[in-house]
Amino acid sequence: MEAIILLGGPGAGKGTLAESLKQKTDYLHVSTGDMLRAALKSGSPVGLEAKSYMEAGELVPDSVILRIIEERIAQEPAGARFMFDGFPRTLEQAEGLEAILEKHSGTITHVFKLDVPRETLLQRLTGRRVCKACGAVYHVINMPPQKEGVCDVDGGELYQRADDSEETILNRLEVYEKQTAPLIDHYQQRGLIRDIDADQDAEKTTTLVLDVFNG
Ligand code: ADP
Repeated sequence: MEAIILLGGPGAGKGTLAESLKQKTDYLHVSTGDMLRAALKSGSPVGLEAKSYMEAGELVPDSVILRIIEERIAQEPAGARFMFDGFPRTLEQAEGLEAILEKHSGTITHVFKLDVPRETLLQRLTGRRVCKACGAVYHVINMPPQKEGVCDVDGGELYQRADDSEETILNRLEVYEKQTAPLIDHYQQRGLIRDIDADQDAEKTTTLVLDVFNG
C-alpha cells in the first residue's frame, strides 16, 4: 500500500482538496475528523470518548485515533492507496502510522503541506458552513450556496460545526502550532514534504498538487 498525507492547520483546505483529488485519482480519502463526527452521530463508544475533546478543540487521544486508522486500513486490499486528511496530528500518531505501514509493507510517498496565513485560516473557519446531509462544505462569503442555508447538492440544511465557534477556533489553531506543526520537521527529515501554496482558490490548489504527482 501507499499513502499520502495532507498536512495543514484547521481551515487550510485539507478536506476540500481531498474531495477533489478523490475524483481525479484512485486514492481513498481517510479523514479522522469525518470518522469521529460519524462516530459521534451514531453514538458509538469511540464517539462518546471523542466528544468532549472535539467540542473543546483539543486532540482526541492518540490510542483512539490509531485504533480507528488501523481498522480502516484493514478494510482495504493490500494494494490500496490512502490519502490521510487530519492524520497524523502528533509525533506519536506519526510513529504509530509508521508501525502500521510496516506491518502492511506500505510507504508514505508525499506529505503535502498546505501553507495558509493565520488570518485566512480564521476567516475561512468563522464563515464555514456544512451540509447536514452530505457534508459538502461552503463559506458564507468565499463559496456561498445558491440559496442561503441550503445545500446546492441535495437541498440539505447547512449548519455551523460546533467547533467552529470563535473561541474553539483559537484553541484549535494553538493546538495545531504546539502539537501538529512539529510533524513538519519529522517529515522534512525524511524528504517527504511538498510545500503547497493553499492561500488561493481550491481549484488552483488542486492543480498544484496534481502537478507534483505528474512530476
Ligand atoms: P480541522 O482540521 O478543521 O480542525 P477536523 O475535522 O480534521 O477539523 O478535526 C476536528 C476535530 O476532531 C479536532 O479538533 C480533534 O478534536 C478531532 N481530531 C480529528 N483528527 C484527529 C487526530 N488525528 N488526532 C486527534 N484528534 C483528531
